[in-house]
Amino acid sequence: MIVVLKQNPDPQQLNTLIDWLKEKHVEVHTSTGALHTILGLVGDTAGIDEDLISALDIVEDVKRVQEPYKNANRKFHPENTIIPVGNTQIGGGTLTLMAGPCSVESEEQIVSIAKSVKASGATILRGGAFKPRTSPYSFQGMGADGLELLKIARQETGLPIVTEIMDPEQLPLFKDVDIIQVGARNMQNFNLLKLLGKQEKPVMIKRGLSATYEEWLMSAEYVMAGGNHNVILCERGVRTFETYTRNMLDLGAVPVLRKLTHLPIIIDPSHAAGKAWLVPQLSVVAVAAGCDGMIIEVHNDPEHAACDGPQSIRPETFDAVAKKLHGLHQYLAENP
Ligand code: PEP
Ligand code: MN
Repeated sequence: MIVVLKQNPDPQQLNTLIDWLKEKHVEVHTSTGALHTILGLVGDTAGIDEDLISALDIVEDVKRVQEPYKNANRKFHPENTIIPVGNTQIGGGTLTLMAGPCSVESEEQIVSIAKSVKASGATILRGGAFKPRTSPYSFQGMGADGLELLKIARQETGLPIVTEIMDPEQLPLFKDVDIIQVGARNMQNFNLLKLLGKQEKPVMIKRGLSATYEEWLMSAEYVMAGGNHNVILCERGVRTFETYTRNMLDLGAVPVLRKLTHLPIIIDPSHAAGKAWLVPQLSVVAVAAGCDGMIIEVHNDPEHAACDGPQSIRPETFDAVAKKLHGLHQYLAENP
């Protein structure tokens, strides 16, 4: 971090600043120029609040030269992270297909969808039991009963399950879940992230509606700082000026995150598109962009789905898409 001081800084305030920085265990190198004095901070500056320093009377400007996230940073962990889940893994060259309904509605619904997506090549079953709905009058999910039905579907198919947690108080109910999903609306629920850092299950963090890459990676850092390094990032589209699609799918996130982090990257075309007909094409371009997998909403009766029917593809469409995605993934692996 570099701190540029204003001209003729008050010596007492400068000494107070330097002492404070040293207490934070960073070395301070002072260069005195004709007009400005510059402080170069060397060491781990992750715990230093640059806004606090910027606000000081004697400070002109502060520049960070190192990212504020350490555990998630590829610079400190060059190898891609591979996360084992059940009999499968996420990352490390596999293309993981997570598929299932937006929300669990009944045993028959979840078991039948689970069987069909498994037959098409999905390796993880998705399904929401606790649903973050924009309206309090919309279906809020089956709650704990929905989690039980997901477990039945897992037992019937062997597919591990990924499902969303909304509140720290729900954690005891998630002890049999395979991957805990943090939804876009909770990406910055820091109490929830801290709690998920203190348990071992993989955590998939969806990108917040208007989150920057750095904010998203700092959310991953919250979980990792607690000791849980099994973190997966999921791009699901961001809010922009465009209203035709539900969100704008940011596929630039794939190469950027590959550069910044070693964590696996999953793409959710369903919540980005908001329209079922767009999902197959967005899935193809996501795999072409080099993601580690997809999470796709699949429903056997989208017209009557309790949640997100318009963006849910039918099992037969998923079957065709999954074949195409695996074919493309294999082609890209053989022709790097
Ligand atoms: C979901 O996965 O059904 C969901 C609510 O996703 P998001 O948090 O991305 O909106
Ligand atoms: Mn949904």
